[in-house]
Amino acid sequence: MELFVGIDLGGTAIKLGLVSRDGKLVKTHQVPTKAESRERDIIVSNLKEALHSLLSGMEGVKAIGIGVPGGVDKKHGMIRFMPNIQPLENYALADDLEKSFGIPVAIDNDANNAARGEYIFGAGKKYRDFVLITLGTGIGGGIFINGDVYGGVANFAGEVGHMKIVPEGRPCGCGLNGCWEAYGSATAMIKRATGLVAMGKHTTLARVGEMSAKVIFDEAKKGDALALEVVDEACRYLGIGVANLIHLFNPEAVIVGGGVSHAGDFLFDRIRKYASLYAKTEMFETCEIIPAALVNDAGVMGSAALALMTLDKRQGT
Ligand SMILES: [Zn+2]
Repeated sequence: MELFVGIDLGGTAIKLGLVSRDGKLVKTHQVPTKAESRERDIIVSNLKEALHSLLSGMEGVKAIGIGVPGGVDKKHGMIRFMPNIQPLENYALADDLEKSFGIPVAIDNDANNAARGEYIFGAGKKYRDFVLITLGTGIGGGIFINGDVYGGVANFAGEVGHMKIVPEGRPCGCGLNGCWEAYGSATAMIKRATGLVAMGKHTTLARVGEMSAKVIFDEAKKGDALALEVVDEACRYLGIGVANLIHLFNPEAVIVGGGVSHAGDFLFDRIRKYASLYAKTEMFETCEIIPAALVNDAGVMGSAALALMTLDKRQGT
């Protein structure tokens, strides 16, 4: 059986998995990233040790894929920016691992890999042109054109979370204003709800413990008017952004993943409603807006999909 390694390299944890060509997660492993050491050597040898543990006793491992929360210059094989794990910036991590492990190794941005994961194993199997967006603390994106990720000149394309939605709008974590994720992400909803509660508005959200997107959706589903207002506002902006993506790419589908996507039809019905108001009818009607299939282990599965696609490309199949 052919196996592919997927590595989800995050700021706090490294998640690793072995995935078969038909999408079965055969083995997993997880270790802390040790990013707080701020030492490249410590982080890299920690990662190699974790890989050795994952691979011990396994046969048929063909390639390794890595997903990182940052910008990867694929032409030069370099991680160019990665605020959560800065010691690995401007480092050729894939080359290093390929020399150490003797099988093909590829690395890319985690949202691009999430799109690959859906394409190979998940909701994107039947499409060649789609956009994946991940709704979480921010909004990530991966653009699939004709069966592969569109990277742009330096492979930084797909930063959909920083599309400008409102001129001179809310400040975004990126330092600019009016970005999509300042209006449609979980963080944006939490900020909006917390602000309204602090103003003394009448809402059941005033009685919940820790504010989260899930809590806001739950209270909205139960009928709290203010929670519903927060949800509806976020969905209106999400619909505007999705309409922009539909106009830009004329995709067969917009696939929505990330923690917020668990809100289900309550979320999707609203995104579809608003996207239909803002998109050209002919283009909206031929674009499905659907949930991602890979929920847990999406990071590992996406990186494994990168490994699989890399092997197939190198073998010319
Ligand atoms: Zn931004």
